[in-house]
Amino acid sequence: MVEKVEHFLRGVAQARLSALLLDYDGTLAPFSADRKQAVPYAGVTRVLQSISGAGRTRLVIVTGRDAREVGPLLRLDPPPEIWGAHGLQRLQPDGTCEMPEIPMLVAQALDDARRWLIYQGLEELAEMKPGSIAVHWRSLSETAASESRSRILLGWFRMAERNSLKLLEFDGGVELRMPDLDKGDAVRTILKEVGPNAPVAYLGDDATDEHAFEALACRGLTVLVRPTQRRTSAQVWFKPPEDVLEFLSCWEEATAGLPKSQSAGSSR
Ligand SMILES: [Mg+2]
Repeated sequence: MVEKVEHFLRGVAQARLSALLLDYDGTLAPFSADRKQAVPYAGVTRVLQSISGAGRTRLVIVTGRDAREVGPLLRLDPPPEIWGAHGLQRLQPDGTCEMPEIPMLVAQALDDARRWLIYQGLEELAEMKPGSIAVHWRSLSETAASESRSRILLGWFRMAERNSLKLLEFDGGVELRMPDLDKGDAVRTILKEVGPNAPVAYLGDDATDEHAFEALACRGLTVLVRPTQRRTSAQVWFKPPEDVLEFLSCWEEATAGLPKSQSAGSSR
């Protein structure tokens, strides 16, 4: 593991509390044509359960999905805090879900966007989420995906402009959403809550994770998780799943027992 990561993990071993922020699809779980079947890579749930149980990590999932979809796939007990819809929605471990109110005009525009997909015969690719609508073309051939993208954007560009919505392209799809919040806002909220001394790491694979990398840039460890490199603001690159599992195992080891700083001081 590179020196930067080892140095960061030494800080985690000494801290009373650290924050581990993780994207889900492409980071903890492989992409699956059926999104409802996208279970984590082997070993991920076990190591996250152990990290969570040790009580020294604030574990947070930050996903583009509806936050309520992740718990049944990840199967942690208790469930972690989950930010959904790229930072719009916050689901607490006790089941409380916070979400900004969706203005009537936005709801109508999203409904128009859905009708455009029906008109184009592309409704099957749609995912309706709180405050947004996404289309996934990962299951299509390259030609069909490119053709679908053109047809969708033909209608959605104008809808985005007219209603001040955000058009967000991600790996394998596009999303039309409320403009207010993104994954960077989720990171900024958590940074405020954990305070200035807690080590914080963020792992993600998608273009939408770049907002999170930028929000954490001078403050924590940022990791791009992808089979191949790409232009990124992240400091480090991990290949899934091996590098991710190795990192999580090292985190597990670093946070088992008392913080190193305390255990050293209390040895006598
Ligand atoms: Mg992802």
